[in-house]
Amino acid sequence: MSDASSAAAEDVPLAQPVLGAEEEALLLEVLRSGYLSLGPTGPRFERDFAAFVGAPHASAVSSGTAGLHLAIRAAGVTDGDEVITSPFSFVASANVIAYERATPVFADIDPVTLNVDPDAVAAAITDRTTALLPVHIFGYPADLPTLERHGLPIVEDACEALGARHRDGPAVGARGHAAVFGFYANKQLTTGEGGMITLGDEQAKQRIDSERNQGRAPDMGWLDHDRLGFNYRLTDLQSAIGIAQVGRLAGMLADRAKVAGWYREALAPLAAQTGLTLPCEDSGGDQRGWFVFVVQVPHEHDRDDVIRRLRAVGVQSKPYLPAIHLMSFYRETYGMREGMFPVCEDVAARSVALPFFPAMTQAQVERVSLALTSALQS
Ligand SMILES: *Cc1c(COP(=O)(O)O)cnc(C)c1O
Repeated sequence: MSDASSAAAEDVPLAQPVLGAEEEALLLEVLRSGYLSLGPTGPRFERDFAAFVGAPHASAVSSGTAGLHLAIRAAGVTDGDEVITSPFSFVASANVIAYERATPVFADIDPVTLNVDPDAVAAAITDRTTALLPVHIFGYPADLPTLERHGLPIVEDACEALGARHRDGPAVGARGHAAVFGFYANKQLTTGEGGMITLGDEQAKQRIDSERNQGRAPDMGWLDHDRLGFNYRLTDLQSAIGIAQVGRLAGMLADRAKVAGWYREALAPLAAQTGLTLPCEDSGGDQRGWFVFVVQVPHEHDRDDVIRRLRAVGVQSKPYLPAIHLMSFYRETYGMREGMFPVCEDVAARSVALPFFPAMTQAQVERVSLALTSALQS
């Protein structure tokens, strides 16, 4: 049986990791060593990662979410506190606040950078606010220099922002606050699942290292635990992959930036003609660490219909991201509803993540761009 789609070119995937001989060799070395967890490979991955980011310390954990949870605890967030964060993020950044029985307080986003708007944050601060949790969404650095003026503890969700840099100099993750990176398979660096907290405070690192390992102090025997802890450990197997990934990170980030440049060039005419919104350009010295290429369809188009049209011609895409405050759990638990964060809601309703990965070819970018052009012009 033959049909038109089987004759067409293969689908363009949404994401694709870069893995090779270095990952295989290091993984095999760890397998053969017999130290599958808590051996010497985890600390080596932490050192390599901290050096890449330019942070004094790093703690490896089992996921970005686990890292955010431990970082929130290290910031002292507890029952009844309020933590101000962005409603335009992956749900984990708000969930970790709820884990500690604190209240996530959302502040609307800037329509250009899509990061939390510093004026909205200032307006949301109360005497119960104990921390800020900005998200560097889509790899664009949040305005930390302004947010730091409040003098509150800050936990950065840097899960999408490896390779980004702030206008006043430091890389994202190197300002001294706890900053959390994620290593799921679509991220700039992957270990399958995994995460890393970079931080400047040695004592906070000790607390995090203990809490990721059941609350055990580093020098303690197996049987005593001096605080409540979790099993948020990263295995040495995952760390081996991470070490190889750090080795190719500069190249992978450069490749992502190159693909983003091709997209910009290919989509500029469509953007000018239809009002399609492309990711914002770097501005004022802030530098994006490219993670995803997300466009916003013009208001008169139906986003989900655009996604269906792309799929029909073999181009994967997805609505990215949905507004957190409109998810059922947040509506039911915190009384959230439509209209509360209009900028976020408008952007969330129109956003589409296009295929984007380091090995993407210019021909693939052109195929996606043509598909999007015909989806918006018919
Ligand atoms: C990926 C991601 C996380 C963490 O995800 P995990 O799957 O737990 O590693 C958190 N926040 C944002 C914004 C993310 O994109």
